[in-house]
Amino acid sequence: MLGDSAHATTPNLDQGACQAIESAFALARLLHLEPTLEKALQVYYRLRKKRTVFTTQTSWQVG
Ligand SMILES: Cc1cc2nc3c(=O)[nH]c(=O)nc-3n(C[C@H](O)[C@H](O)[C@H](O)COP(=O)(O)OP(=O)(O)OC[C@H]3O[C@@H](n4cnc5c(N)ncnc54)[C@H](O)[C@@H]3O)c2cc1C
Repeated sequence: MLGDSAHATTPNLDQGACQAIESAFALARLLHLEPTLEKALQVYYRLRKKRTVFTTQTSWQVG
């Protein structure tokens, strides 16, 4: 759902733990704010996918 199990990355941008922490914060916040688990996970996926894909792809290119 988050961290290396969901968006593992090459080490070239030093973003593995950073993105895990961002995802954890986003998920905790959404679980608090959204009315249902399903809605929280939908918003979480939308919110985090673009950024984690960007960091993993950019890290790969830098490497
Ligand atoms: C040498 C090195 C340098 C790094 N430098 C940086 C850096 O400068 N900046 C940065 O942002 N990131 C860095 N990273 C990446 C960062 O460490 C990872 O991206 C981050 O730790 C991922 O966190 P996680 O919680 O997803 O996974 P993990 O930290 O791997 O945590 C997973 C945990 O689950 C446990 N576990 C596994 N299987 C089971 C099971 N079946 N039952 C119970 N527990 C289990 C493991 O023991 C572990 O404690 C570095 C990584 C390495 C290896």
